[in-house]
Amino acid sequence: MEMNMLENFNLKEELKKRGTKKIGYVPFAQKANGSWVSIPVMLAVGKKEGPVLLADGCCHGDEYEGTEGIIAAFDALDVSEMSGAFVGVPALNLDAFGEMRRYNGNDFVPVDLNRTFPGNEEGYFTSSLAHFYFNNFIKHANGLITLHGGGNYLYLSPVTNFQHMGDETSKMSEAMARAFGFEVLWRDDECSGEQGMEDQVSYLNGVPAITPEIGGQATRLHHREETVGRIREGIMNVLRLFKILDGEVKTFDDQYYVNLEYIYSRHGGIHKPLKKEGEEVRKGETLSIITDVFGREVDRVLSPYDGVVVGFLAYSIINPRSWSYLLGRDVKKAD
Ligand SMILES: [Zn+2]
Repeated sequence: MEMNMLENFNLKEELKKRGTKKIGYVPFAQKANGSWVSIPVMLAVGKKEGPVLLADGCCHGDEYEGTEGIIAAFDALDVSEMSGAFVGVPALNLDAFGEMRRYNGNDFVPVDLNRTFPGNEEGYFTSSLAHFYFNNFIKHANGLITLHGGGNYLYLSPVTNFQHMGDETSKMSEAMARAFGFEVLWRDDECSGEQGMEDQVSYLNGVPAITPEIGGQATRLHHREETVGRIREGIMNVLRLFKILDGEVKTFDDQYYVNLEYIYSRHGGIHKPLKKEGEEVRKGETLSIITDVFGREVDRVLSPYDGVVVGFLAYSIINPRSWSYLLGRDVKKAD
């Protein structure tokens, strides 16, 4: 079986090879067992020159919707009709992807890749992977779509995070979020980059970025194909926005803006979410009840403000001080 190793990979050089499609693994580091940690890449370089759109999935290893969506978009692309390039990274955190976990097992202590950007070349595994990806991929792109989802534990309404800072780069980010097509548009009004998030650091370096979140284990049984289709369509529409693909950019009239916050539990136990996606809640209303192993109530998660439910922990058990709800506030319909 051919491994398709792309040794000495240089994205800038690859982007000069007009009218080509290519897939392969970019080697990053060898492991103790002799196998390689690598970054899988799918390149579709248009016949004509133009911008570069980068999309990655599985920054968190259990969020497979992005992986399948990138594969579907890549398969649909015809390089003879493209002005510019699409670079797909279907599983950025490839070891975590294979381990079916959010984090990979290469660090002594689990490190969240999406809290580590721009990374450190001399840092631990995940930090140096972030550094490698940031410098060899993100910096060469004109736009970034980093795909996330509910993973093994969360349920989410489809929501797209974008930078909302008033400058030209973040206006492009907003246009990308609108074009991606999900109903809920998550405004990021701070974007300091201090949390080490990939989209924020990308934006701070002049590359507009969005983080669409969709799917998760709770939806995969019945909605997997639909979810993958929505991601494929979202990528295609953003490619039209960048004029990498011809055609009119589709618009959506059911979108609304929110600010989002995670609402945490105090205690762990059996988690019973009472409010579901899209429901409006009032300040002080009960979102979920947490009981101990005897069924006795140990905690009650309350809504800290009037808002709308965007996501919740779909797993039966919750840890202490863990995400119980993802709640939107300052809801504003998009024009
Ligand atoms: Zn994620």
